[in-house]
Amino acid sequence: PEILRKQATQNIGCVGHVAHGKTTVVKAISGVHTIKHSHEKIRNITIKLGYANAKIYKCDNPLCPRPGCYKSYGSGKEDNPMCLRPGCGGRMRLLRHISFVDCPGHDILMATMLNGAAVMDAALLLIAGNEPCPQPQTSEHLAAIEIMKLSHIIIIQNKIDLVKEAQALAQYQDILKFIKGTIAENSPIIPVSAQLGYNIDVVCDYIVSKVPIPRRNFTATPRLIVIRSFDVNKPGTDAMDLQGGVAGGSLLEGVLVVGQEIELRPGIIVRDEQDRIKVTPIFSRILSLHTEENDLDFAVPGGLIGVGTKIDPTLCRSDRLVGEVLGAVGHLPEVYIDLEISFFLLRRLLGVKTEGGDRQAKVAKLERGEVLMVNIGSQSTGGKVLAVKGDLCKMQLTAPVCTNVGEKIALSRKIDKHWRR
Ligand code: GDP
Ligand code: MG
Repeated sequence: PEILRKQATQNIGCVGHVAHGKTTVVKAISGVHTIKHSHEKIRNITIKLGYANAKIYKCDNPLCPRPGCYKSYGSGKEDNPMCLRPGCGGRMRLLRHISFVDCPGHDILMATMLNGAAVMDAALLLIAGNEPCPQPQTSEHLAAIEIMKLSHIIIIQNKIDLVKEAQALAQYQDILKFIKGTIAENSPIIPVSAQLGYNIDVVCDYIVSKVPIPRRNFTATPRLIVIRSFDVNKPGTDAMDLQGGVAGGSLLEGVLVVGQEIELRPGIIVRDEQDRIKVTPIFSRILSLHTEENDLDFAVPGGLIGVGTKIDPTLCRSDRLVGEVLGAVGHLPEVYIDLEISFFLLRRLLGVKTEGGDRQAKVAKLERGEVLMVNIGSQSTGGKVLAVKGDLCKMQLTAPVCTNVGEKIALSRKIDKHWRR
C-alpha cells in the first residue's frame, strides 16, 4: 500500500486515431495535460509519448452506488479524500495508481506509438463518436496492441456530447463489427464525453474491475525500458552545477535502488570508416529515482519513473536514450545486430484505401533485400531481410538492440509511402 501511494504500478496506454480524444481523456482521468512541449501545443497534436499519473479511489461507504463511488485524481492527491457525493460522508480508498501513456495518433508517428506499447499493460482505445469507425489509426493501433499481446482493452466511444442517441447506437454496432474476431472482441465499450467529464467514473470502475494489476517479478534482476530521456539543465548552467541525464521509462521486472550501479545497453553506437558498428555500454550510478510527484528510495515494476544518473546530459538530451535498456551491471540481455525471427503477416492490410473502397488489400510475402521497420522494446530501427524460409526470416538491423531471445517484435513495411504492419 505504501508503494501504491508513491508510485504507479501499472501502465495503461491511450491509443486511437488522431483527434479522437486521447489527450483529453488522460486529462479527464488524471487532471494532467500531457502536452508539455510548445511545438506540440501550437499544433495541438501529441508528437512525443506523453504521460500522466492518476490514482483511482473507491468510496468505502457500502451504500455508495456504482459508478459514482469511483473517482480519479492526479497522483498528488492527499490520502483518503472525502467522497464528493452529496450526503454520502464516506472516505475514498486508494485502489489503483496508474501511469497513462498518451500515444500520438498520427500515421507517421506509429513507431513512437509502438515504443509506448512496449511498456503497456492495458489500453484504452479511443473512438470518436462523430466519425465513421474505424479510421486508419483506429485499425492500426488495434493491430499494434494485438501484436503486443495486450489483452486488456477498454473501448471509449468519445465525444458522445456531439451526437444524437440513434447515431451513437448505430456507431456502437459498427464498433462491435470492427472488433469482431480481434483481441478486443469482448472488450467493454463505454460512451464518454472526455471534454465534459461524462462517464469518467464508469471508465474508472471498469479499469478496477476489468484490468488486473499485472503480476510482477520483484526478485528478477532489474530491466527498465527507456521511453523518454532528458537533459534537465537550463541553458547557461554553470559547469559545476550540471546535473546528469535522466532516463524515463518503466521497469518490466526487478527493483532499482538509489545509489545502485547501472548499465545501459546497447549504449553508445559508433561506426568506423568501414561502416562497422561498435557498441559500448554506458555505465553509471542512480543518483535519484522519482515520479512526477514523489522522490523514491527504490522503484518497482510498472508505472513510469525517472532515473537520475551521472550520464553526460548531452547523451540524454531530447529522447536520445530511447531504445536503451537499463539494468544492473553485467546482467542485461545481449546486444544483437543480426536477428533470426519467426514471423507472421497480418492477413489483412489495415487502414489502406484501395481503388473501389476495398480496404482489405492483399499482403505480399517478405522478400530478400526488402527493408522493414523493426520495433523491439522501445527501439525502432531499420531491418534488411537477408533470407526468408517459410515463417523464418534472417535480418540485419541498422542499429543494434538489446533484447532477450524469444521477445516479440513488430515489423512494418512501406506501402504507398506509409509504414504498414
Ligand atoms: P488526440 O489527438 O486523440 O489526443 O485528441 P485530443 O484529446 O487532442 O482531442 C482532439 C479535439 O477533440 C480537441 O479539440 C478536444 O477538445 C476535442 N474533444 C476531445 N474530447 C471531446 C469530447 O468528449 N467532446 C467534444 N465535443 N470534444 C472533444
Ligand atoms: Mg493527443
